[in-house]
Amino acid sequence: MIADPIVRNLATVGGNLAHADPANDHPATMLALRAELVVTGPNGTRTIPIDSFFLGTFTTALETAEILIEIRVPVPPPRSGGAYLKLKRKVGDYGIAGTAAYVVLDDSGRLAQVGLGLTNAGPTPIRPVEAEQLLTGQSPTEEVLRAAAERAAAAADPVSDLRGSAEYKRAVTRTLMMRALARAVERAQAWRAA
Ligand SMILES: Cc1cc2nc3c(=O)[nH]c(=O)nc-3n(C[C@H](O)[C@H](O)[C@H](O)COP(=O)(O)OP(=O)(O)OC[C@H]3O[C@@H](n4cnc5c(N)ncnc54)[C@H](O)[C@@H]3O)c2cc1C
Repeated sequence: MIADPIVRNLATVGGNLAHADPANDHPATMLALRAELVVTGPNGTRTIPIDSFFLGTFTTALETAEILIEIRVPVPPPRSGGAYLKLKRKVGDYGIAGTAAYVVLDDSGRLAQVGLGLTNAGPTPIRPVEAEQLLTGQSPTEEVLRAAAERAAAAADPVSDLRGSAEYKRAVTRTLMMRALARAVERAQAWRAA
C-alpha cells in the first residue's frame, strides 16, 4: 500500500523510518511491533527503542553523521497477528490516515500483548498507549475493540488539509483501527504452528 512500484523498488525501510515523515507507513508498524533501531556513527554503535526515535516532524534521535544500520523486530510468538490498514485518495498517495495493530493472545484467548501505531495522525507517528492499556488482559470482544479504537482516535491530533478536516481524519483513524484490530485478532486466532 506504499506509493507505487517504482518508489517501492527504490525506497528502503530504513530510509522510510529515518525520514520521520508522520505520513510514512513503516513508523506505525514498527511502533506496534516494538522494534529497536541500531545506529552507528563516529562515536560508536547504539540501539534506540522505537518509542524514543521520532522526536518531531522529519526529526529523529539520530545524531549528525549517524546512520541507521539495522532494524530489529521481535520474532512474533505463537498466537500473534497483525494488520496495517490505510485509506488513501488514490493509488500512489500517502494515507489520509493509517493504523497498525499487533496482538498476542494467551491460552484463554485474551489479549496478552498489544501494540498499536497511527500514521498521519499528528506531527510524529503516534503510539496510542491508552488504547493498548485498555485492551491488554481483555477478551477481544467487539465492544472492547470498539472502545480501544475510540481511545486510539482520541490520541490522534491531525491537522485539516487537502486530505480532509481534522475531524474527518480522526473518524477515519477510529474506523481503520477498529478494522485493523479485528483483523489482527482474527489472524492470531487462526495461528497454527508451522
Ligand atoms: C510518489 C511518492 C509516493 C510516496 N508514497 C509513500 C507512501 O504512501 N507511504 C510511505 O511510507 N512513503 C511514501 N513515499 C516515501 C518513500 O517511501 C520514501 O521516499 C522512502 O521511504 C524513503 O526511503 P529511501 O530509502 O528512499 O530514503 P531516502 O529518500 O534516500 O532518504 C530519506 C531521508 O532519510 C535519510 N536516510 C535514508 N536512509 C538512512 C539511513 N539508513 N540512516 C540514516 N538516514 C537515512 C536520508 O538522508 C534522507 O534525509 C512516497 C514517495 C514518493 C516519491
